[in-house]
Amino acid sequence: ACRNVLVTGCSSGIGLAVAVRLAKDELKRFRVVATMRDLDRRGGLEQAAGNALNNTLEIKEMDVRSEESIRECVSSIPQRQVDVLVNNAGVGMIGPLECQSIGSMQSLFDTNFFGLARVVKEVLPDMKRRQSGHIVVMSSVMGIQGLLFNDVYSASKFAVEGFCESLAVQAMKFNVKMSLIEPGPVITEFENKIYEDAANMDLSDTDEETAKIFKQIYLPYSKAIFTALGQTPQDIAEHTLKVITSDSPPFRHQTNKLYTPLTALKQADPSGRLPLDAFYKITFQHNRVLNASLALLRLLHRRSRKEPKPEKPA
Ligand code: NAD
Repeated sequence: ACRNVLVTGCSSGIGLAVAVRLAKDELKRFRVVATMRDLDRRGGLEQAAGNALNNTLEIKEMDVRSEESIRECVSSIPQRQVDVLVNNAGVGMIGPLECQSIGSMQSLFDTNFFGLARVVKEVLPDMKRRQSGHIVVMSSVMGIQGLLFNDVYSASKFAVEGFCESLAVQAMKFNVKMSLIEPGPVITEFENKIYEDAANMDLSDTDEETAKIFKQIYLPYSKAIFTALGQTPQDIAEHTLKVITSDSPPFRHQTNKLYTPLTALKQADPSGRLPLDAFYKITFQHNRVLNASLALLRLLHRRSRKEPKPEKPA
């Protein structure tokens, strides 16, 4: 049977790649409703969708900050039938906490957390009534493990994880599945936007030492990590397809094997010291550790490129 998949945030990055991948499924298992906040930005998606456009892929407007916009979009789908929701829309934020206004933090939560809550509130009752459905949520490894200068972004993804972990049990009772996809670094506009903002960031509200740590240690290190470990949006789309088509979908799915050891530190030590110490050492202890870890990342990156591609599902 052909399933209706609603994807949010499809004008770029992971959302665009997921929408296109599902719409071009060789077995034609999906009808994709690819949504975006601003339809003027549909060009990239239209181009990537090619023949699938208005065939297995339809573009609709949805701003996840507005309940009205969400309701209008869902109600325009025949029988309001959403079999799979891919909640992907999200925004990023990096930098010293002192440089961020409470307003900008609230606005990030409005999209990353309340956006999810709004969309789920709109589709879950129908899924429960039909006793079927799958809610797939683009979280992040930062939903499991915090990262320096990502305080607010990470908090929003922790909120997403707690929300889904709590809701998943109720959903299960109604045969509705939930899955969190947890990518590590992915090379998209998201990353570019973040670095652009960071380069132009007014750091006068923080002290000199913090500004220096951010600009001279964090930013170069983080860029190196993206280069060494970064996945493509298409990689994440393949993982998403696997999760959606799995007979028994995982509740959590990390997409990047190279990042997994860092998240495993947390599970290895209930006191929470191990990941803190490890991240502290990597960041501050001395350049030797930093350089050694960068060299290791580059090596792993070269190796991962030689790895065969994940096999396509039958
Ligand atoms: P992106 O900026 O290319 O895509 C985000 C999309 O969300 C954009 O199309 C944007 O227009 C849309 N969006 C923002 N606010 C919206 C709103 N109010 N309503 C509807 N759409 C809205 O970045 P991406 O990397 O593709 O990010 C997609 C998701 O993946 C996000 O939830 C992000 O947190 C998550 N993620 C990204 C990375 C990464 O390294 N890029 C890593 C882990 C998780």
